[in-house]
Amino acid sequence: MTIEFGNSLKGVDRCPQCNIARPYMSLTWSGPIKVNGNRGVRWGVYECSSCNRLTMVEGFEGQIDALGLVRGDFGNLVRAVYPGQREVDDSLPEEAQRYLKQALETLFAPDAAIVMAASAVDAMLKDKGYSKGSLYTRIDQAVSDHILTEGMGKWAHKVRLDANAVRHADEEAKPPTREDAQQVVDFATALGDFLFVFTARVDEGLKEAGGE
Ligand SMILES: [Zn+2]
Repeated sequence: MTIEFGNSLKGVDRCPQCNIARPYMSLTWSGPIKVNGNRGVRWGVYECSSCNRLTMVEGFEGQIDALGLVRGDFGNLVRAVYPGQREVDDSLPEEAQRYLKQALETLFAPDAAIVMAASAVDAMLKDKGYSKGSLYTRIDQAVSDHILTEGMGKWAHKVRLDANAVRHADEEAKPPTREDAQQVVDFATALGDFLFVFTARVDEGLKEAGGE
């Protein structure tokens, strides 16, 4: 789908920051055309009406002639969006991919995102043979088996893997915030990288290098 500059960003499927579908993103800043090699480059910053976070876009605008003037008009096409859309790696177990994708798509709804991210964590642990007990006890078991590092284990205990969880006995269970959801999704993503993505990359690299 083509994305276009304008007072609002047109054609963007999901906000790259909160992943809400069909976001309304309004222009908060646009710079003068910058010369980059022989191209004019246009930058803009847009604010999402749902999460109020900013996204930067880049577009090319014409060619730069010998005098440094912009010639031609490439229209309002956006060529790159920062941050880019987050994708789920296909080396994760299929079930984990499906849950993690839904977690990313529901970051604007923290309860849903946490449930989906925790389901992704559950699916990854099951794939590695850890199927009994709570997520925390299984992660601890994986740490003592040296499947996960101690750092991963500590991190697991700092994020809210259960939307209803009370982290400390003296705290009441408060509704999870977007930050809570983001932290759980970040943890689930890192767990997937650690358990599946890196080993897949190593295998690919080995193959390309001609050794197995
Ligand atoms: Zn947003």
